[in-house]
Amino acid sequence: MQFDELPAQLVAAKPILEKINEAGFEAYFVGGCVRDMILGEELHDVDIASSAYPEEIKEIFDKTVDTGIQHGTVMVLDHGEGYEITTFRTESTYTDFRRPDSVTFVRSLSEDLKRRDFTINAFALDADGTVIDLFNGLDDLKKKQIRAVGKAKERFTEDALRMMRALRFAAKLDFSIEEATLEALAELAPNLEKIAVERIQVEFEKMLMGQAAGRSLMTMVEVGLLPYFPGKTGRIKASHLLELANYLQSAQPKNFAEVWTLYLATAGLNADELQDELRTWKLSREVMSTVNRLAPAIEKVEGLSVWDLYQINDLAETFLSVLAIIGVDESVRLSIAAQFDALPIRSAKELAVNGGALIQAGIAKPGPALGKILSDIEQAVVNGQVENEQAVLFDFAKGK
Ligand code: ATP
Ligand code: MG
Repeated sequence: MQFDELPAQLVAAKPILEKINEAGFEAYFVGGCVRDMILGEELHDVDIASSAYPEEIKEIFDKTVDTGIQHGTVMVLDHGEGYEITTFRTESTYTDFRRPDSVTFVRSLSEDLKRRDFTINAFALDADGTVIDLFNGLDDLKKKQIRAVGKAKERFTEDALRMMRALRFAAKLDFSIEEATLEALAELAPNLEKIAVERIQVEFEKMLMGQAAGRSLMTMVEVGLLPYFPGKTGRIKASHLLELANYLQSAQPKNFAEVWTLYLATAGLNADELQDELRTWKLSREVMSTVNRLAPAIEKVEGLSVWDLYQINDLAETFLSVLAIIGVDESVRLSIAAQFDALPIRSAKELAVNGGALIQAGIAKPGPALGKILSDIEQAVVNGQVENEQAVLFDFAKGK
């Protein structure tokens, strides 16, 4: 397969391949960017693989940064862009099911492509626009299937994360998982326990944002991966995941905050279990706080007061998206959205008075009583009992 016209990102990076070629080495675009180009999808990152060793790459280019020199990756800086160039390499014996014991640089493209996870991730594209497809990945793209390069059982034994990656790409591209690859998934599911939660998190998040997230989630349950998932085994019941899978048929979360709010707020956990689960997944502080603030609101969505909505109004967009995914009636969502819009203030900072003003006006003295007055004012304004105007609020405070 030959491409006469390349996407703009690859056109911009082509001189890098050519420069490496001129120096007498091979260089190709590899991985996701070639797959996405063939599919006509938007490209994320442009990865380059080369027969040149890192030291040789550094001799060819003026500006380089050692971004991952131990794995053979050097970043070349060109017209304000950074391009990662990785030396062809093989990975030998994975005694721990997750990291190769050693990485060996090689001069052969086919050796490098052989170590890649799936046939559709194992293309290379040369500077002339020719696709190198050693494992019939083009055929798999046509069949819309995820198939391991080589023997699936061996590949999942080497690196158990690849099982999550299979589910992630199946969800992202709306592909099925080829039979032998799926069989290996079912057989080797217990190995997932060996994988660091952070690496599973990355794949799981991308999986849930994929267009066929619901199907991947169901597959996860069917092949028996759930008991080996981070978190206490069986805490999240398969029935909850299947319910979530059902929701995901029609809409998917758009970002990590939505992913985790959706996943954990619908998982049927009590408050302690939820905290445990948040810690287990090692989520960012920001995501944890979002889940903690939205989970109770999602549980009582029909009985939310204006004050409840005020408390989460900075997360309104995430909240409404998750409600849509879990099938809350449009009329209910529109009414909640209208209530968010109608809030007289978004935060206490927008109040027409503050502690200083109350003290200056001689209405209150510094101390705990002042805090109470301010919080009464905030509640009264939010609930629409008083106007957010200084004179009105002074009068209100005097009456306290
Ligand atoms: P995305 O568009 O989501 O970034 P990608 O295909 O570029 O998709 P990456 O995770 O960025 O995925 O990995 C880049 C490439 O490296 C893959 O296409 C694949 O060839 C290879 N790769 C990544 N992780 C593994 C792995 N665990 N085992 C084997 N090959 C892998
Ligand atoms: Mg990538």
